[in-house]
Amino acid sequence: MSFNRQLRTLRTAKKLSQTAVAEAIGVARVEISRWEQGKTYPTEEKIEKLCEIFSVPREFLIGEQPEAIDPRERSIFDKVHQLNSKNKQRVDYYLSDLLVVQKGEQKLETQELPIRAEARKLNGGIRCNFCGKPQSLCDHLIAGNNSYICDECVKLCTEVLQDERYKKDEE
Ligand SMILES: [Zn+2]
Repeated sequence: MSFNRQLRTLRTAKKLSQTAVAEAIGVARVEISRWEQGKTYPTEEKIEKLCEIFSVPREFLIGEQPEAIDPRERSIFDKVHQLNSKNKQRVDYYLSDLLVVQKGEQKLETQELPIRAEARKLNGGIRCNFCGKPQSLCDHLIAGNNSYICDECVKLCTEVLQDERYKKDEE
């Protein structure tokens, strides 16, 4: 929530008038009104006083300044927010990879990307030998003879086998 809406919400929740808040922090009532309409913005000192009155941390009162956030970044953030921690880690790796590529420091095809280097460090090289996914990102990793397969690849294989079976049955 943006600062102006947060201020209004906190004030009405505490059942305080604009006048009461204005007096408590030493400004004119019209100042509070302007802040709540988003027309002006308080000084750092007044923000501190407002935080004391409403007993909230600074970040909570200030909230997100909507003009500072690109709508696309907002949308990415909302999606990431819904991910579980394992998938958040995947996104983090992927973003690191993209940044490296973007800077032209590495080429995707030829060199080891951070996600792979990181995974090697974390897992001592244990990963699915079919899709290359590191152990930390797999729900299950089944060990074979010097190789591993992840649950997602097992599922994929099962589906492939089932398809083949259906085709045979149809013949
Ligand atoms: Zn796999």
